[in-house]
Amino acid sequence: MSEIGFFEEGARLGVLTAEPVGHALDYLAPEGGCALGAFVEVPLGPRRVVGVVWGPGEGSFEAGRLRKVARVLDVPPMREELHFFLIRMADYTMTPLPAVLRLATRTPGLFDPPGTRKVYRLAGTPAGRETEARRKVIEALTTAPQSGYYLGELAALAGVTTQVIKGLVKAGGVSETEAARDLPYPHLDPERPGKTLSPDQRAAAEALRHSAGSGFGVTLLKGVTGSGKTEVYLEAVADCLRRGRQALVLLPEIALTGAFLARIEARFGARPGEWHSGATQGERRRLWRMVAEGGAEVVVGARSALFLPFRDLGLIVVDEEHDTSYKQEEGVIYNARDMAVLRASFAGAQVVLASATPSLETWVNAETGKYARVDLTSRFGASELPEMRPIDMRAEKTGAAHWISPTLSAEIARRLGTGEQSMLFINRRGYAPVTVCRACGHQIACPHCDARMVHHRSLERLVCHQCGESIPVPTVCPSCGVEGKLVPVGPGVERLAEEVRARFPDSRVAVLSSDLFGSARALKETIDAIAAGAADIVVGTQIVAKGHNFPHLTLVGVIDTDLGLQGSDLRASERTFQLVRQVAGRAGRAEKPGLALLQTYQPEHPVIRAILGGDEEAFWRAEAASRRAQGVPPFGRMAGIVLSGPELAPLFALGNDLARRVAPLDRIGARVFGPAPAPISKLRDRFRVRMLVMAEKSAPLQSALSAWLRQVRPGKNMRVAVDIDPQSF
Ligand code: ADP
Ligand code: ZN
Repeated sequence: MSEIGFFEEGARLGVLTAEPVGHALDYLAPEGGCALGAFVEVPLGPRRVVGVVWGPGEGSFEAGRLRKVARVLDVPPMREELHFFLIRMADYTMTPLPAVLRLATRTPGLFDPPGTRKVYRLAGTPAGRETEARRKVIEALTTAPQSGYYLGELAALAGVTTQVIKGLVKAGGVSETEAARDLPYPHLDPERPGKTLSPDQRAAAEALRHSAGSGFGVTLLKGVTGSGKTEVYLEAVADCLRRGRQALVLLPEIALTGAFLARIEARFGARPGEWHSGATQGERRRLWRMVAEGGAEVVVGARSALFLPFRDLGLIVVDEEHDTSYKQEEGVIYNARDMAVLRASFAGAQVVLASATPSLETWVNAETGKYARVDLTSRFGASELPEMRPIDMRAEKTGAAHWISPTLSAEIARRLGTGEQSMLFINRRGYAPVTVCRACGHQIACPHCDARMVHHRSLERLVCHQCGESIPVPTVCPSCGVEGKLVPVGPGVERLAEEVRARFPDSRVAVLSSDLFGSARALKETIDAIAAGAADIVVGTQIVAKGHNFPHLTLVGVIDTDLGLQGSDLRASERTFQLVRQVAGRAGRAEKPGLALLQTYQPEHPVIRAILGGDEEAFWRAEAASRRAQGVPPFGRMAGIVLSGPELAPLFALGNDLARRVAPLDRIGARVFGPAPAPISKLRDRFRVRMLVMAEKSAPLQSALSAWLRQVRPGKNMRVAVDIDPQSF
């Protein structure tokens, strides 16, 4: 290595690939040399794979036997910040480095050369009439001169149809050429006037800017639903853009992206880059490159956007930071919110964690001063927070196989014909959660999982929500062979909709459940239609809890408020509180006051009382006190060890063996619980057994866990997965 970070031809270097081969492998630098962090293609056995120049070679082979790097790819080298983030993340999640690198490089086609696409630029004075539309195009190209635009982007930027641009090409005002390089995204202008902020919002934006500063720091932006958190954190995005740095906004749900992109466009004049599984391969390749080259200023995306190769990441917003979909439970197990904070610490970036109902972890971090905190306590404009009332189901005559109480029903009826909407929430997809045989009592279960099959009437199938397996709805009981005795038991969103239609036959009913829509676009269209008033009654699952604005909605009915309180999960209270408050918050967004009615069989339950009482701080304080007393997160550290394999007995044998060899854990004062069946005890034909390890906050948990797990050798088909900070415990 002649200069720091560069390897001359023939120098020995280590290349990390996403292949499961342990660590970096030694190669020789190619002709022309290559930089530290360069993306390269290397021979591996008979194949060629993509890797990253990770550091000097480790001397694992004699130089004479080393192979040369085949090719240096034409993309910017990985920056130090991402390099060290990946290493730290691998350590933290106890995952081999190649598996973590895969998160940053696995997108198909990422390193393919782009195909040629038509590019539009300013050419000269167009012949013919100067129309308003044409002037807009010329003006857009003059005020925002870039290396060129794609047709759709230019049309959006100028606010004209693509026909206008085609016309200008004919008239000689705009040139149309083919280019084989990806173009930067249109510039986002932080100086465009945004919405006029209310005094509260302005104060919050100011406080955010204040606590933000310019280096690393985390701020909780806590604001009641409808307070305008988005408007406020867009000011932080504007600030970041003014500094010439890039911003990343993480959203928990792809279905929210469309509406969000429109808000960014309204604020900054152009659309940002979009990163999620619904984006095309070509778009993702372009975004990845532009993020690396600085040609994408803002990225909106799902949790995987956290691994993009930003040139200069200055801000990460995690919207709805409490949302459980930020936790990835398979492969590399991580929480995107926590990893966002980690990445920002390496990038010297700010983090804004936004939520109306933050996770207890974040609330505590703000309480102890580790994070700054900014509050928005009232809704924007005239809108008031909804009134919340319980419906004591013990006193209601609801009827068998019916779930809407007379009290709730009357409130819905009152709104029909007034232009006000009602929404019923049930946290269950499908028609019925259970199918039971009336002859023998058998419940139909998934053949591959420890889960009952859920009846989906829209599909006329029974579906396993764990593995996706589905079968036609049987007419004969698979257990006793009797025909015609299988019946659906319990409500799902489809069945609730059926009840609504039967009860209110003249009303327009919309059903919102993620599985009922073929595409994010179809879902968005329905959401937009509802917002425009095209439904009287909305029946929905979880998806309705997330940041949609329905201005005509004045009633929210929670069908099964108690559902999440069952079971022994220590997070049950927190989850239920968050979900029900979020759902209730959908009511009364415009001038009309909202009402949220919670159907419950236990109105005296402390969590139900906390939800109704509205004193959130008191709830978080009580929750925190109880967690502290038990020494569980966020006051202690915890890891779940999930042992999985095709047979149960060897898993317990392995678990018991581990339970006897606890010396490495004893040394850090950690305690072990289990082995016991995991929360999902069988998944895709593999049994799952879990052990929980608890330690003090300051204990070096990961290194003790490695030493502990190293003592045993799992059988051939067994897997040991470590889940640091498990969601359920
Ligand atoms: P939250 O994320 O806190 O629920 P949003 O940012 O989505 O709130 O704002 C709620 C609604 O109020 C949105 O429709 C938004 O456009 C509107 N709104 C918020 N602040 C303003 C403002 N300053 N001017 C105009 N509309 C606003
Ligand atoms: Zn299954």
